[in-house]
Amino acid sequence: MEKTIYNAVCTICGCCCDDLEVKVGDGKIVEVKNACAISLSKFQNYNSEERIIKPMIKKNGEFKECSFKEAAEKASMILAEAEYPLIYGLSLTSTEAIGKAVELAEVLGGVIDNTTSVCHGPSLIGVHDIGVVTCTLGEIKNRADLIIYWASNPVFSHPRHLARYTIFSKGKFRKERKERKLIVVDVRKTATAKLADIFIQAIPNQDYELLSALRMAVKGEEIYLDEVAGVPVNKIEELADLMISCEFGVLFFGLGLTMSLGKSRNIDAALSLVRDLNEKTKFLIMPMRGHYNVTGANEVIAWQTGYPFAVDFSQGYPKYNPGETTTIELLTRGECDAALIIGSDPAAHFPVSAVKHLMKIPVITIDPHKNATTLISNVVIPTAITGIEVEGTVYRMDGVPLECKKLVEPPLGLKSDEEILTEILANVKKLKG
Ligand code: SF4
Repeated sequence: MEKTIYNAVCTICGCCCDDLEVKVGDGKIVEVKNACAISLSKFQNYNSEERIIKPMIKKNGEFKECSFKEAAEKASMILAEAEYPLIYGLSLTSTEAIGKAVELAEVLGGVIDNTTSVCHGPSLIGVHDIGVVTCTLGEIKNRADLIIYWASNPVFSHPRHLARYTIFSKGKFRKERKERKLIVVDVRKTATAKLADIFIQAIPNQDYELLSALRMAVKGEEIYLDEVAGVPVNKIEELADLMISCEFGVLFFGLGLTMSLGKSRNIDAALSLVRDLNEKTKFLIMPMRGHYNVTGANEVIAWQTGYPFAVDFSQGYPKYNPGETTTIELLTRGECDAALIIGSDPAAHFPVSAVKHLMKIPVITIDPHKNATTLISNVVIPTAITGIEVEGTVYRMDGVPLECKKLVEPPLGLKSDEEILTEILANVKKLKG
C-alpha cells in the first residue's frame, strides 16, 4: 500500500527544507517531490552498497561482525579507559543525540567538538566579539529587497535557498524577482554570480580590506585609493549607497569568508558593517550553514556547557579555547587517546598530521555509511538515518527548530544515534563507578 508523507524535512544542508512530499510503497521510498538534485540523490542512494548494516569490531586488523551489545560494550570500555577522549562530528544527527553526546563527554572528562571547528568556527568567534544582527529566513522571504551572497555559491551548495528564502521566493511583502536586488561578492563568477544584478569580483584573501572599505563608505569617509581588493572605489561607494538605501537588506556569507585569510577577523568586519548599516536602515547577516544540524550542534552544546563547540571537560568544568580545544589541534598535538566519531569523516577531510594521530588511537565510529574513518576505526556501529528512518529535532541555519519525520523503517535492528549513545553512556557510567 502506498502513502504520501507531507512536509517532511530534508536532512542534508542547512536550509532544512520542510516541504518535501515523500511517497512510500512497500516500506520503500518510491518518489520525492520538492527535493533539489542533492536531496534526490540522497533519497535514491541512502540504502546503497555503502550502507553498513552490522556492527563490527576490529580484531588482528580485520573487522568481525558482532552484536550491537558487544559493539556498545567495546566502545564503552575504550572510552572509559581513555584519559582524554575526544567526541567529534555531530552535525549530521539529531539534537537529542547531541545532548547525549555532551553528557557522555562530561562523564568521560573529555572534549566534545562538532564540525563547526572546521567550517563556521570563525563566524561564532566573530559573534562572540561583535554580536550579530539577525532574523529568521521567513522574515527575509517576506521583507528583503536587497540580498547579498558573499563568498557563497548557494546554487550549488544550498540549491533551494534562492527559491525558498531569497530572490525567487514569493514573500508576503516582496512577491516577485523584480522587487529584490541580488548582489554577489566572490573571487570568481560562480553560478550564483551569473544570476546577480551586480557581481563584485574581489582578489582572493582580501575580503577584510574590502569589508573595511565598505564600512568607510557607509560612514561617508573618503577612501584615498583607486581600488581595494581589486574593486574600484567608485564601485565600493555605489555598493555602500545601495546598502544604505535598501529597506531590508541581508548579507549571507559562506566558507569563502570564514576560511580565507583573516578568518574570524573577516567575520568581525562583516558583522561590524551590518551593525553600522543599522544606523541608517534595516540590515541583517547570516552564515550559510552547511550540514543540516550543525546549527543544532552549536545550540545544544551551548545550552549545556555555555560554549558552542570545542568544549573540554578534562578539568571537571567546561573550558572553551578554539585553537587549543579544537579537534584538529588536539589531534595534531597527539593529545587525545581515544576518539568517538559521530556522523563525520575526519579521516577523509582532516590534515595528514591530524589523521596520523587518529590512526594511532582507538577510534569508534557511529555512522550509517562506510567512509575513510570507518576503515581506520576499531569499532563501527551502524545507525538508522535521522529524517528518513528515525525522527528527531534539527535546527535550520537561522536557528529555527524543526521536527524530522520517520519515513520508513530502518534495516533490521538499526538504532538511532540517540539510542546508541544512551547505551554507551549507561555502560560508561557503570564502568566509571
Ligand atoms: S536545498 Fe538543502 S535542505 Fe533543501 S532540498 Fe536541497 S539539500 Fe535538502
